[in-house]
Amino acid sequence: MVDNLQSYPQLVPVFKDIENIIGKDTYDMWLRPAVFEYKENTLTIILPTPFWGKTIKERYQCIITDAFLKHLGVEITIVYQIAPQEPAPVINSAQDVIAASPAEVAAPILKTAVNNPFPSRLNSSYTFDNFIESPSNRFAYKAAEAAATKMGNRENNPLVIYSSPGLGKTHLLHAIGNQILKSNPNARVLYMSGEEFVSEFLECLANKSSDSFRKKYRGLDCLLMDDIQFVVGKQHCSSEFFYTFNALFENRKQIVLSSDRTPQQLEWDERLSSRLLSGIIAEIKRPSVETRIAILRQKRDSINFDIGDDVLSFIAEGVQSNIRELEGSLFRLVAYCGMHGVTPTISIAKELLADILVSGNDLVINVNSIKKIVGKRFSIKMEDFNSKRKTQSIAWPRQIAMYLTTELTDMSLPEIGREFNRDHSTVVHARDVVKEKVEADPFFAAEINQLILDIKAVDNK
Ligand code: ADP
Ligand code: MG
Repeated sequence: MVDNLQSYPQLVPVFKDIENIIGKDTYDMWLRPAVFEYKENTLTIILPTPFWGKTIKERYQCIITDAFLKHLGVEITIVYQIAPQEPAPVINSAQDVIAASPAEVAAPILKTAVNNPFPSRLNSSYTFDNFIESPSNRFAYKAAEAAATKMGNRENNPLVIYSSPGLGKTHLLHAIGNQILKSNPNARVLYMSGEEFVSEFLECLANKSSDSFRKKYRGLDCLLMDDIQFVVGKQHCSSEFFYTFNALFENRKQIVLSSDRTPQQLEWDERLSSRLLSGIIAEIKRPSVETRIAILRQKRDSINFDIGDDVLSFIAEGVQSNIRELEGSLFRLVAYCGMHGVTPTISIAKELLADILVSGNDLVINVNSIKKIVGKRFSIKMEDFNSKRKTQSIAWPRQIAMYLTTELTDMSLPEIGREFNRDHSTVVHARDVVKEKVEADPFFAAEINQLILDIKAVDNK
């Protein structure tokens, strides 16, 4: 992990924890390029540019100080310094951008703030204010707001937010926690990932300290558990989670969970499933291009970097999969242009982001990819799509594949019929029944969206 910490072995677990909390991608982007020095409770972070210092301070400083407090029991002061100048080589990738840092004026010394004594593990930079509301996330956003303002109210409890990665689940969970603490600074709010819950639980089992584990969780006012899919299937752990969940729920404490799957797909214990389904379940869908542009504008304004709307639109068109990638692309461009003192243009963006940009027109979906992905999902063979077999376990995925072919390709109905060894009226029927279910059943719609993403991913390789 952190390459420049060899001189401070005691800091390795601290930074490992920080990496777990903020996620590997974010860590790689913002903290890995840094050089750390640690002396007398002062952590000096030496960075390529002041822009880096500003971002770390605004987004991650609390997490860093909390981690030092948790692991080493010390309240640290953080000092930011800018690395001395080195000649800038030709730059081809984000990694190079980070390594090749010109000198800039030293940033001011920034002291850490003392927070709520309860370690909520919240990232204060994720708020409702800086979350762009759009049709794709409106329901989740409103439900999150309600959970924060009417904490524990049965109508909003539990709240489960699900989406594919990078669409804002973690952001909303932190926003809920931050909002609760804003109106009630003494609330015991805890943010934690499912993975952390599992490892903490296993550690407690090994140390036979499950009582303190239970006490910690059951004394909360609000539990925000991210990526709950990590807990499912780990038998003892998911039972423990069930008890924790029940204890909080019975006491009208707020529970917010996020998952990369629908609650149905989680295949949880039936009792827990029915409890989860009794609350609010909100999906975040992929944002439209207008929303992606709005998000990029907001990020640009927050870092105060001069970058034109035409360039933002170009990035928004080309990065469709998720917001994390969208944001990462903007920061990559900003880092590159900042270092070279050049104004961002579409052609720089095109070259620098060539590895991730997709052009909708370039993507030709192939009917075999559709069959392959649908076949994999429903465990049926390629030849089953063309066979005369009519059992439901084959007929239904075949209809889904036909529907997806009508949606994702330009093929005519008779052409599609030939690909499935059927006539065009069968294709029309398949398209209509699947479409009807997509419109009526949001969980099914989510499943179809996931299939579309998987098909596009195959054809995009
Ligand atoms: P997830 O947990 O679903 O994988 P995250 O919450 O980590 O996604 O979001 C990825 C990045 O995108 C974060 O930096 C987050 O702030 C940003 N983001 C996601 N949705 C929005 C939004 N609607 N408005 C502003 N930023 C967003
Ligand atoms: Mg997340």
